Amino acid sequence: MHPQTLAIHAGKDTLDDRTGGVAAPIVLSTTFTHSPDVAEHCGWMYQRYGDPNAVALEAALTALESGSAALHCATGLAAASLLLQALPEGSHLLLPDDCYFGVRGILETFGHRWGLAFDRVDMTDPDAVRAALRPETRCLWLETPSNPLLKVSDVAALSTLARERGVLTVVDATFATPLLLRTLELGADVALHSCTKYLGGHSDVMGGALVFGGGEGARALARRCADLRKLLGGTASPFASWLVQRGLKTLACRLEVHQRNALALAQFLARHPGIEAVHYPGLPGHPQHRLATRQMHGYGGMLSFQVRGDRARAIAVAGRLQLITNATSLGAVETLIEHRQSSEGPQSTTPANLLRLSVGIEHVDDLRSDLEQALAE
Ligand SMILES: *Cc1c(COP(=O)(O)O)cnc(C)c1O
Repeated sequence: MHPQTLAIHAGKDTLDDRTGGVAAPIVLSTTFTHSPDVAEHCGWMYQRYGDPNAVALEAALTALESGSAALHCATGLAAASLLLQALPEGSHLLLPDDCYFGVRGILETFGHRWGLAFDRVDMTDPDAVRAALRPETRCLWLETPSNPLLKVSDVAALSTLARERGVLTVVDATFATPLLLRTLELGADVALHSCTKYLGGHSDVMGGALVFGGGEGARALARRCADLRKLLGGTASPFASWLVQRGLKTLACRLEVHQRNALALAQFLARHPGIEAVHYPGLPGHPQHRLATRQMHGYGGMLSFQVRGDRARAIAVAGRLQLITNATSLGAVETLIEHRQSSEGPQSTTPANLLRLSVGIEHVDDLRSDLEQALAE
């Protein structure tokens, strides 16, 4: 079946539903009855070890990505830190130079304690990646398109390069979703998604998923992550898993509008005299436009742009918007804008005049008019 169909139907059969309800039940129980022989339980035991709603979502994500297993965690960063803690001590990682600041933050804060070292490299340059690999490199961490510069890296080429060196490739595909980037089919070992974003899609649930490929290294990592999640406790609540799965069912049709609107706004901004640069892989002028066209099934709903002027002017533009909400996060039905450098804090390497736009599914004319009036001054 096609991913659009799987997004709606996969995972249903893992729920024990006694009513025949078309919508899935939410199982809130934290504990489950043992069979009379205490050594044998009913399959479920304790919510931290796994619950029916998490397993249903995990089955859906596994099917959707053509993976071998998936784990749903409390947040995207819980999923990222689980994966990092599963790497052997002494591992070296390569991270994108504009890596999601939270992932970098985990490694800067805990990397040393966990025995992990890392370097940052421009992932759009395979030669730079090859040169940065060390004998102890265990993980190539990609993020494509990247947050907030929308850089696109070549998942197939970099996964091949990594595999030749026995290095696992992890792709944070939050911006792309499982529908726009077939991460595992392109050869990566693990896809990471902040389910808080497009999968949930309505700014009302947090979650993070790891989806593992079928290779031996990926399967071993999946087992280790599953054991560690029980131990570290970063599981998602059943209601969160249920909400993410509910969001998944409308992902395909939401994305069509997200990306149609994003392209129209990117084109509008690119022509506007008050704008210095627009970063959107769907624009022919984007440095990896051809790669994005080949690698992705659409360019997504995220873009960023740099206003002509300084930090204060960028902040002023965001402040004048009336329909578009000035807030962090992304991937939901409503359009959000943010001054990314302010959100990332003092360590930020994001240009000071950059605004990140998560384009929602409102009517595009209303969004364009709002930007027009905010940029008019
Ligand atoms: C939001 C985000 C994360 C972190 O996810 P949370 O659910 O906020 O913990 C990781 N990577 C990317 C690209 C993100 O946008």
